[in-house]
Amino acid sequence: MNVYGGEVNKLIEELGRLPGIGSKTAQRLAFHIIGMPEESAIALADSIVNAKKNIKYCKCCYTITDKETCPICSSSGRNHKVIMVVETPRDLAAYERTGSFDGVYHVLHGVINPSLGIGPADIKIAELMKRLQEDVDELIIATGSGPEGEATAMYISKLVKPAGIKVSRIASGVPVGGDLECIDEVTLLRALEGRVYL
Ligand code: ZN
Repeated sequence: MNVYGGEVNKLIEELGRLPGIGSKTAQRLAFHIIGMPEESAIALADSIVNAKKNIKYCKCCYTITDKETCPICSSSGRNHKVIMVVETPRDLAAYERTGSFDGVYHVLHGVINPSLGIGPADIKIAELMKRLQEDVDELIIATGSGPEGEATAMYISKLVKPAGIKVSRIASGVPVGGDLECIDEVTLLRALEGRVYL
């Protein structure tokens, strides 16, 4: 039976699509939002719409940004010849917090995962290969240490090595990508410093 009416159900349904939100939490959030002052609810809705409208991928590294080119790619203070390949913008942010990497990044937006039907063409590998036509000294592959992260690292390494570019892999022991933000900076720094050349 439709106890709340269509609009409320629609809100619960939409909130329930978010990761980590079960149906009970979705209901709790929906009733919280309904109970908010109107201007607060509108501010929340606007922030979602504006983020979605104005945030795009950096045309160079594919992280999310509100500019054509992100601040890291546009910085003359960074070493554009060293590219660190990460799975997500969150991983980029985690490495950036170490404050010790002065190169630039490339965000794949996932890893190769045949069981989920995600192949090389579904992540930003072709875009990476295009960047490598420019003057690049080293590629540091910082995908997660799970089987998909490892397989993706191997795939990229095999593609890149014939071009004569140095390829390294961050030291193992760093959990699967997407969780990098939960890891402290010291661990990330060790992973980076302990990287192994492939
Ligand atoms: Zn960028």
